[in-house]
Amino acid sequence: MKNIGYYNGEYGLIEEVKIPMLDRGIYFGDGIYEATFSIGNKIFALDDHLDRLYSSASLLDINLPFTRTEIINILEELNSKVDSKVKFIYWQVTRGTAPRKHIYNKEIKGNLYITITPFAEVKDYEKKLKLITVEDTRFLHCNIKTLNLIPNVMASQKADEAGCDEAVFHRGDIVTEASHSNVHIIKDGVFKTHPTDNYILPGISRKHIIEICKNNNIKVDETAFTVKEMMEADEVLVTSSSKLIVPACEIDEIKVGGKAPNIVKLLQDEYYKKVDLETSL
Ligand code: PLP
Repeated sequence: MKNIGYYNGEYGLIEEVKIPMLDRGIYFGDGIYEATFSIGNKIFALDDHLDRLYSSASLLDINLPFTRTEIINILEELNSKVDSKVKFIYWQVTRGTAPRKHIYNKEIKGNLYITITPFAEVKDYEKKLKLITVEDTRFLHCNIKTLNLIPNVMASQKADEAGCDEAVFHRGDIVTEASHSNVHIIKDGVFKTHPTDNYILPGISRKHIIEICKNNNIKVDETAFTVKEMMEADEVLVTSSSKLIVPACEIDEIKVGGKAPNIVKLLQDEYYKKVDLETSL
């Protein structure tokens, strides 16, 4: 198949699958999601994404309608039906189907929605990102991967209209993350990144890069940094499951980074190696 859309056991082409009007995801964005990619049918970092899905579900009191083994089997079976070497795998679970009312029935069963689409090659040594800064006006539960992404959508659009790739959020002086990725800096050989509290999503790529730093004697400092520190950093790095790890070259039209290319190359080499290793089984 050229793609797959799946909803609660039924599947077909994304363009053809229909979902009910009373799915709470539609009128409240009342749900959670995950996204990763596969290469040669092997889904990258699935365990990490499932751990985060379970954490999001527990924080929002959402009943997942499957066991861990069942969701792995569903994702792997659907993934094998789509004809492409590299695929983007997105899945969300909404609280369930019910008439629109803020209060929910605790017994309600979650709705599982999956899309799998062909995706471009994830590894890219040449890419450098142009960023803009945007005040972070999101709510204070950014650690939960919810469907409620309006500020992220607006910031992303603003970046696109400025001819840029991503929007970096800051609360006052403090850089939190970006509209759909985490942001880190390298200064004097130290990898500095916002701690995993309620102001950022605990990114899976962030976690992998921290492991890689530690294995390669690069000091990691999980302390928030300021916009000024970011502008003056040796490198500004953006991580996500779809981009892996990419350096920034410009923020708000001012040139940034480019002063520790060897560290960037090492992190990219090691992350790409991890992806190769885990998708070549
Ligand atoms: N922060 C936000 C707000 C995101 O939406 C994402 C990814 O979608 C990330 C960070 C990066 O997370 P991950 O590395 O798990 O893709």
